[in-house]
Amino acid sequence: MSEMSKGKELQDRLSYQKKSYYETASAEEKTAIFDYARGYMAFLDAGKTEREAVEEGIRMAEKEGYTPYSFGEKLKAGDKRYYNNRGKNLFLIQKGSEPLDKDGIRILAAHVDAPRIDLKQNPLYESANMAFFKTHYYGGIRKYQWTAIPLALHGVVLKADGETVNIRIGEDDTDPVFYITDLLPHLAQNQNTKPLGTAFTGEDMNILVGGMPYKDADVADKVKLNVLAILNEKYGITETDFLSSELSIVPAFRARDIGFDRALIGAYGHDDRVCAYPEMTAMFAAKDSPHTLLTILADKEEIGSEGNTGMRSRLLLDIIEDMAKADGVSGAAVRAHSFCLSADVAAAYDPNFADVYEKNNASMLSCGATLTKFTGSRGKSGSSDASAEFVSYIRRIFEKAGVPWQTSELGKVDIGGGGTVAMYIANLNIDTVDVGVGVISMHAPYEVVSKCDVYALHKAFLAFCRG
Ligand code: MN
Ligand code: MN
Repeated sequence: MSEMSKGKELQDRLSYQKKSYYETASAEEKTAIFDYARGYMAFLDAGKTEREAVEEGIRMAEKEGYTPYSFGEKLKAGDKRYYNNRGKNLFLIQKGSEPLDKDGIRILAAHVDAPRIDLKQNPLYESANMAFFKTHYYGGIRKYQWTAIPLALHGVVLKADGETVNIRIGEDDTDPVFYITDLLPHLAQNQNTKPLGTAFTGEDMNILVGGMPYKDADVADKVKLNVLAILNEKYGITETDFLSSELSIVPAFRARDIGFDRALIGAYGHDDRVCAYPEMTAMFAAKDSPHTLLTILADKEEIGSEGNTGMRSRLLLDIIEDMAKADGVSGAAVRAHSFCLSADVAAAYDPNFADVYEKNNASMLSCGATLTKFTGSRGKSGSSDASAEFVSYIRRIFEKAGVPWQTSELGKVDIGGGGTVAMYIANLNIDTVDVGVGVISMHAPYEVVSKCDVYALHKAFLAFCRG
């Protein structure tokens, strides 16, 4: 072995360099990375909407001994509770031995809603021997990506008497799927000249749901009627019941390994289940933590975190105030001593679209969990911008636990931007910073992450829960 040159030694000691976690991981760690990915992929397939992800979260929590939390309850160290907010937003609580007003709460906050296509309230119509659903998309989507792919229907319909019917069609191999039509290249000459953002409008996103007429010479709209007859036979619903429904169209794809080496995962809705799942596994693994832990699976992040299931709701504050009151301490003191990792994804550097990234500060695939000090757009607008002191605290926790991590920024300055739930929690006087995983093709019907980054995030959250 030749001795390291002085310059090389100096460079190693003084420079910040990102390295692939796959390169540094031991053989055992590689096995752990791939094992962990299997659990995550099963979670992805089980929970494609916030309702399903919350249901899956409750199932996982109950397996770990969590029971429902009721307001006013006094928790003792080691107690494990969950709060199910309207089936769309979940809080998991593990009470620590440290006093709440001195030690605060370690909070992990991810979201479980994902960009998708919702049905309008009066969706069904017939045209040219086909039946369609009218839709209203949810969150930031690039509309053209959703055409000509297999789609599934998920959600609930509340019947006239208030009974809930759960619907999930297109996930089983024997299920039918749904579809948004697109133009054939032979006739796309005019469409091809339009900018991507205008070639396909929201009102064009009609879902093909049928093509068989009801056999009766006396009725019009026979294909529509036949669809209604099938729905009525299978679910006991009528067209009027759509008025009180919440139905979403999501890609019918399942999570799959990507690449010859299976290093990556392709799936719908990595954003932000790739943080929601590690939040829970880390919290379950941190049973020994002296700190009080709170994991949040939030709804509505993709449309601005509004409403009573989003992070701008008072509920987080209510839960903290309630726990403080039960312990006879000040809620303000609890919040002042709390920390939060706003768990959301970063845009991984994509060499195919290099011009939108600034490589030195972009998140690099497979280089570990991402820490994003600030988000926002233009001059950091809409960002809570974590303090250097808090970033230092998190950095020390990660490094002590050997967590592979990197810093990240969304893209080039002034080219776009985006935000997370970080500011809503920071606004409660809680130190908050974004930590997550770099995603390729974020918000596409099929997104890509690296398995080692997902595992790195589990390690990051576990270190935070224990630290
Ligand atoms: Mn998103
Ligand atoms: Mn997100």
